[in-house]
Parts: sequence; C-alpha cells; structure tokens
Amino acid sequence: MQDQTFEIPLQRITDEITRKYGVNLYVLRLDQYHPAIGGNKLFKLRYNLQEAKRQDKQYILTFGGAFSNHIAATAAAGKEYGFKTIGIIRGDQTGELNPTLTFAQEQGMQLHFVSREMYRQKDDPAFLNLLGQLPGSTLSDTYIIPEGGANAFGIKGCSEITQHIHIPFDRICCACGTGTTLAGIILSLNGNQQAMGFQVLKGEGYIKNEVQRWLSRLNATLQKWEITEGYHFGGYAKTKPELLRFMQDFENTHHIPLDFIYTGKMMYGIYDLMQKGEFKIGETIIALHTGGLQGNAGFYEKK
Ligand SMILES: *Cc1c(COP(=O)(O)O)cnc(C)c1O
Repeated sequence: MQDQTFEIPLQRITDEITRKYGVNLYVLRLDQYHPAIGGNKLFKLRYNLQEAKRQDKQYILTFGGAFSNHIAATAAAGKEYGFKTIGIIRGDQTGELNPTLTFAQEQGMQLHFVSREMYRQKDDPAFLNLLGQLPGSTLSDTYIIPEGGANAFGIKGCSEITQHIHIPFDRICCACGTGTTLAGIILSLNGNQQAMGFQVLKGEGYIKNEVQRWLSRLNATLQKWEITEGYHFGGYAKTKPELLRFMQDFENTHHIPLDFIYTGKMMYGIYDLMQKGEFKIGETIIALHTGGLQGNAGFYEKK
C-alpha cells in the first residue's frame, strides 16, 4: 500500500497572482501516492492496520457517508493487507450503488446501510458491540476504526506527511474534516513553521476544538496553528458556482484536479487570503493535496 520509497511530487505553482503577491506556493501531491486512492487516508490507516495485525484481527469495521474517501481507502487497504472489511454507511440505500460504494464493494467490502439516527451512535460502545456481531464477524475478531480514521493511530500516521517535504517552508495548509490530519501535521512542525487548516463544514469553533483536544491529550501545545472557517461554502459537500469556476480555472492553468469537498475549498481559500495580503512576501507555503478525487465521479454523475 504505502511504498516508502515513492517520491511524492512537490509541485511549484506560479501564476499572475502568486507572482503579484510574492508567495512561493507548492502543492504536495499526496493524491498521487496510490494509483486508485491516494491522499491523506492511507496515512491515517497505516498504524491502524498495523495495530489490527498486532491484535490478530481478521475484520476491519469502519464508518462513512456514501461518498466517503475513508470508506474507499479502507476497502482498498483492507484488500491489499488481507483484512476483511465492513463498511457501515450512513443513510438508507437508494437505488444503485454510486461509484465510491461500487469501488468499495469491488475491493471486497461488506456494506451495511444504517439510518441517520442509528449512524449517530457510531461511537457508542453498545452500538459497536452490536455491529461486532454482524454476519461472519465477531467483535473479538473485529478492529474498529472511527469515522474518517480519526484516532491516535491516524494522527501518528499523518505526522509523517511532512517527512515527504524536502524544502524549507513557512506554512503548511490542509483541508479539515475531522482535524486528524492537521493535528498530525502540527505535531511534526519545527521552529517557526505554521499550520493553517481550512474547515470544510459549518460549525463555529468545531475543528479548532477537535484539534485542541487532540493536542492537549498528546501534550503538544506549543506549535503555531490556526483554523480558517470562512471557506466552507455553505457546509459539508455544499458548493457554489464561484467555487466550481475557481476549481476549473485552477485545473486548466496548473493541470492539478481538485475535489469540491476538501481541496477545492482549501485552494480557493489560499488564493483569497493571498489576494487579501494575508501572506508575507517571500513566504513559502505548502498546500497539501489530500486526494478525494474519487468522490468527484459521484458528484458529477449526480448533477
Ligand atoms: C478526509 C479528507 C480530508 C480531511 O481530513 P481530516 O483528517 O478528517 O481533517 C481532507 N481532504 C480530503 C481529500 C479528504 O478525503
């Protein structure tokens, strides 16, 4: 799954705007890490899978929405590493499976659709107990990964992302859904490096609190970081024409596709902040391309 020798491309982005504001912008192409499902999710899974092996579990059970990158990644990683995988999918099944779930099923993942009400119990031990008794699996044989790979093993894996950046930088930017990736990144910063997270869902202070909670639990409170909440475009997976237009222009100019849930919103935010003079002249910024392109197929199909 994770070929440690794979050189993750760090792509310089130059255009009229970066030149005008004197910003050295690079994109770390985590999306190119794996042929089918590159991105941040494999970093989150790495130590979870190791732990599941150590505990000698046969099954991996996890949670996600119908377009979840985490579901797709877990299904593919499970197949590659010899685990049986079970996906608990939020919402009732309507009609045919979308491309994300079709992919997951092709990797051998067993899918179980549960109502939104039931899904809300995803962190409740009694509910997990019940899920561990799904056909074929027993709880003692099942390793449970929380939604989005958001646990300490996920953070540990994400703290290794910066090892793939071989130039000095001042700031690193990342889209945030659960904040796990950002927490891992923050743990690995040195000196004056700063992390900037772009919250992709509504809810004031949501990611800030999550990240804060993880960092205090891990006794890491010295690093510099901030969350930008102004670029969620109405909420999780919501879009606006200006966002889609920006993504299209960006792809046309730089030949880097973005996804509309995460990386599109982050990049829009970076360009907007740049034009508001928020970055210093000569600053070197790394934008993480955390993947998510598999989800685009379902989105464009739906329209
Ligand atoms: C899951 C995901 C994120 C968010 O990661 P968190 O660790 O949950 O904050 C960002 N970008 C993409 C493409 C993702 O799939």
